[in-house]
Amino acid sequence: MAKDLSWQVTGDAGNTLNIGAWRFDGNGNGPSVHLQAGVHADEIAGMLVLHQLLPRLQACQAQGLLRGSVTVVPQANPFGIGQFRQGKLLGRFHEATGQNFNRAFDHSLAMERPASNLAQWQKQLVQLAADADLVLDLHTDDEALPYLYIHRRFWPEQGLALAAALQVDVVIVWDEGGDGSFEETIINHGAPRLAATIELRGQADVSDALAQQDADGLWAWLCVNGVIDEVAVINEWQGDVVDMGCMETILAPCAGVLVFEKGLGDYVEEGQPFARIIARPGDPDSEVILHAAQTGRMVTGHRERLAAQGSVVAKFTGTRLSDSYSGGVLDP
Ligand SMILES: [Zn+2]
Repeated sequence: MAKDLSWQVTGDAGNTLNIGAWRFDGNGNGPSVHLQAGVHADEIAGMLVLHQLLPRLQACQAQGLLRGSVTVVPQANPFGIGQFRQGKLLGRFHEATGQNFNRAFDHSLAMERPASNLAQWQKQLVQLAADADLVLDLHTDDEALPYLYIHRRFWPEQGLALAAALQVDVVIVWDEGGDGSFEETIINHGAPRLAATIELRGQADVSDALAQQDADGLWAWLCVNGVIDEVAVINEWQGDVVDMGCMETILAPCAGVLVFEKGLGDYVEEGQPFARIIARPGDPDSEVILHAAQTGRMVTGHRERLAAQGSVVAKFTGTRLSDSYSGGVLDP
């Protein structure tokens, strides 16, 4: 039986919020794993993946095939999931404070008594995961290929099997963080053999078929890590590995109608047009062409087709340090 580790925090209006969490304990011969989804709240794919994984873990434990222990938090952020506006869930930022949900986890840990309910939640989430050997944080981008963020210390040794199991298209390797994302805080305050952030494609990529595929991938990864006593075969991995600083993020120079001329996964040459923004529809002179900053592959795209000035239009892989890179994390 799963141990119910669900807990409550106080919400923005003094209401009680619940965070569902379950732990499956095996026979003690395997590593401990922490799996969570939805830290930014509007990242749904991982919730369905973990929802599908739970009964499989339950059955596995019942059959005596579970060696390690697995903690599952399928919907990690109880604050964000209530932020509906005109039928849309606005995640990513906590409306009451403007804080990005996946920042300042390290600050919450430093406080003996967190000053805010949000920090209290962050601290408890980190504490739940801090002792785990393997920690995966499931996120989702706007529109995107499946990709992985991983710290250099884990790449390629521990990370390659994960990239292969999930067949991600791109692995982004980072060195310096500094903004207290969940992953970074776990690395700095826990002792994980592996901690990684997985971007499960785009926000609309939620389906039983994709969730099944990802759950199968995670399952195989759990098997090869000795968490589950089962033989699994992981296919070879042939995706792209990119240093964080070589990623190219193209921002909208002006607001307007966004038209992509290239799609996710497409390769572009340096200077090649990939999209345009029509600032004032009706005025042909108001079309602004967007060009690739260097040769690479389109990994993410803006989901809305009316872009605000300064919003992220697309992210590309690259092979040399981006002119616009100023250190730190990209976006997770
Ligand atoms: Zn996220």
